[in-house]
Amino acid sequence: LSQRVRLARFRAREDPAVDLGTLTAELRALVVPPVCVACRASLTHGGEVLCARCRRALPWLRAPLCPRCALPRPCAPCPARRATFEHAWAPLSHAGVARRVVVALKFDARIAVADAMAAQLVAGAPPGLLDGAAVVPVPGDRRRRRSRGYGHAEVLAERVAGRARLAVNGCLVHERGGARQLGAAREARLAAGRLAVRAASRSPPIAVLVDDVHTTGATLEACARALREAGAERVVALTYTRTLRR
Ligand SMILES: [Zn+2]
Ligand SMILES: [Zn+2]
Repeated sequence: LSQRVRLARFRAREDPAVDLGTLTAELRALVVPPVCVACRASLTHGGEVLCARCRRALPWLRAPLCPRCALPRPCAPCPARRATFEHAWAPLSHAGVARRVVVALKFDARIAVADAMAAQLVAGAPPGLLDGAAVVPVPGDRRRRRSRGYGHAEVLAERVAGRARLAVNGCLVHERGGARQLGAAREARLAAGRLAVRAASRSPPIAVLVDDVHTTGATLEACARALREAGAERVVALTYTRTLRR
């Protein structure tokens, strides 16, 4: 046990960017036996977040995927044909194990989950997609951030940036009263154009927007517009999962 504490402290010291998140995860693993975030089976490896069975059951999206809307082809009429973001990509369908991973990130507050998601995002990203970009998180709800200490998209974005060796640019913020909400009501409001996001500072020229889920694309669109207005030349939408149309 003391060896693991030493290891965690060593890693935090070696690489300051390894950060509190990893350290917290390591320390947490000492007191809470690690379980699979999808099925709650005990894990033999402290570093994992999914058991072997759930890892095998991850619903990977298979090529060919539409580079605009991230849906499997054919997507016509492409829902992103008029989108402000130029490219969208997600490695997984928003179903089964992948959906449970997203829920774990939102509600379990496990940084290790974000790191596992980021690893899959960065490893599978289409060639060139992240080149020369800075990572911009979709802004989270302030109230949730206050109570939990972070927004889930921010944590995911930070992990993606760390793994891809890119900068994070937190230029997007919510307008007052534009709090992010969960579920269908939120999507309906977004579709009605009532999501108020703005850039508080200049956008990087190439912005990779990071969020957990790409559902209707309304959130990503609102963010992409704000980034373009703030100087972005190219906006890419990167999400862990993509909701498939029925
Ligand atoms: Zn499992
Ligand atoms: Zn499409």
